[in-house]
Amino acid sequence: MCKVISIANQKGGVGKTVTAVNLAIGLAREGKKVLAIDNDPQGSLTVSLGYNEPDNLDYSLATVMMKIINDEPWDVQDGLLHHSEGIDIMPGNIELSGLEITLTGVLSRETVLREYVNAAREQYDAIILDCMPSLGMMTINALACADSVLIPCSVGYLPLKGLQQLIKTIGRVKRQLNPKLEIEGILLTMVDTRTNYAKDIIEKVNEFYADKINVFKNQIPMSVRAAEISAEGTSLYAYDPNGKASNAYMALVKEIARKVG
Ligand code: ADP
Ligand code: MG
Repeated sequence: MCKVISIANQKGGVGKTVTAVNLAIGLAREGKKVLAIDNDPQGSLTVSLGYNEPDNLDYSLATVMMKIINDEPWDVQDGLLHHSEGIDIMPGNIELSGLEITLTGVLSRETVLREYVNAAREQYDAIILDCMPSLGMMTINALACADSVLIPCSVGYLPLKGLQQLIKTIGRVKRQLNPKLEIEGILLTMVDTRTNYAKDIIEKVNEFYADKINVFKNQIPMSVRAAEISAEGTSLYAYDPNGKASNAYMALVKEIARKVG
């Protein structure tokens, strides 16, 4: 059975996109058939995977969502890009911001993306959605169609307040739109354990959440390599196979792969 995981946090720069790329490609390396969906008008996932001009693509996530809204025919495979490391990508671009405005006037506006994702479930073992840094309608759509949400949380910012708001939104979506939605876990990213500040944050996150929410034991270390891959269009496994961030992501992948397909 296909597992759909949304990577969400309304804070920008916490490692959502890097996590989405390396989770998607990592699962493909474990033999899973994977679709990555770029749900961010900035198209960061699309760019990170080597498609440098997402705004010039003829077909993207906004295209198929408009077709769904307008009751026009569409196919799961239309517009998909194929990455050399073995995943399919539904690209995202600036048209998603126009779509987000359009959605407010649409019937079933929270579940347009679910129609696409549910059709894609039949063709993939895992679907990874990279969300934009907001709790707007596109993120609600991503939560409404997912089985679980993975929350990257960088220790560079005091994350606790934003996390509470995000967890509240997830609870609301679960009650009103998607009773099966679970929290996969909080993933601490850009961790530099040499600093007391990082240790403090990690302790606080565990103190506040570990009894109700999975906080992954496996943390993603701060790594220059991780920051470089967006420009390379590859995963960490291809760019820096034995690096510490690469190993940390692979450990996360192994943990999640057990629950997939
Ligand atoms: P988001 O999608 O949440 O906005 P990104 O994945 O784009 O976050 O990451 C934000 C920035 O931090 C990017 O420049 C990225 O390359 C960098 N980055 C991500 N993960 C790491 C890491 N583990 N170590 C160092 N830099 C990272
Ligand atoms: Mg991003």
